[in-house]
Amino acid sequence: MAPDSDREHETLTPETHEEPEDLPLEKSPYYHVPQEPTVEELLEEVDTGARAPLVEIFTSIQGEALFVGLQQIFIRFSGCDLNCPYCDTPAAREAPPAEVWCQAKPGVRGFTIDNPARVEDVVDVVRRMLRYDEEGAIHSISLTGGEPLLYPDFVAALTTMLRQFDLPIMLETNGMRPGDLQKVLRMVDWVAADFKLDSAMGRALDDGARREFLRLAQYKRVFVKLVLTEAATDEELQGVFDLIADIDPACPVFLQPVTRTGECYPPSGLDLIRWRAMAMRRLRDVRVIPQIHKLLGLP
Ligand code: SF4
Repeated sequence: MAPDSDREHETLTPETHEEPEDLPLEKSPYYHVPQEPTVEELLEEVDTGARAPLVEIFTSIQGEALFVGLQQIFIRFSGCDLNCPYCDTPAAREAPPAEVWCQAKPGVRGFTIDNPARVEDVVDVVRRMLRYDEEGAIHSISLTGGEPLLYPDFVAALTTMLRQFDLPIMLETNGMRPGDLQKVLRMVDWVAADFKLDSAMGRALDDGARREFLRLAQYKRVFVKLVLTEAATDEELQGVFDLIADIDPACPVFLQPVTRTGECYPPSGLDLIRWRAMAMRRLRDVRVIPQIHKLLGLP
């Protein structure tokens, strides 16, 4: 029998070493999820004076995907790295407004804060909104855009400060910036990845970035939304379903027919049923839901 030291050496050689099943995440170039520090430790490092350009802060009913029908606080960032033809927030892609419009409660008079907004000013606005919410109707906080991950340092500081309100924090993103996701993931509860289809964008997007993004998001709770236009193809959808299923077949996926915008038309109802069935061959939780807030006449 070989001495213990030899056996140890043997098990570590590349030929004989078998990787545990959960290792692929560590192979990600973006893999560097640090040990969890406490919120108190993180707060010591927070730059409360960090700034980012915002458009508005308000509360309304979430009209899409997993949290549909729940009231959220929306913190909308200015700026986006994509240019979707059906974008329903064009203001988020224009030059940032001089001031951020804020509303503490639907129906009450709005107010403004300076733009680019400071972390501590945004936190004060959220505090004010929650004071108005005597009924406890607000379910969670959504960071949306535009693309919030254009400002990862600000988002990291803001989400750390927002923990004090003990509400779930959701990051809505186009899912193309895994390196920036890594910087903010620690303080986010939910990642809503809004993957874009090549047919809608008129160009091929980077599948590798999306794959890395989804792998990294597995450290938190994540769901995927796909906005479908009549231009969507079986082939590209199968590719996205496979990409998601290879990482997590239980990841909730929402097929959202586009709300007609310009030349973007929604697919037929029959196509939606067919595409959902196609997705269900590999995924466990796939739902078809249109934008509900548009039907309700809400922002
Ligand atoms: S990613 Fe979102 S905000 Fe950016 S252009 Fe597309 S729909 Fe608009």
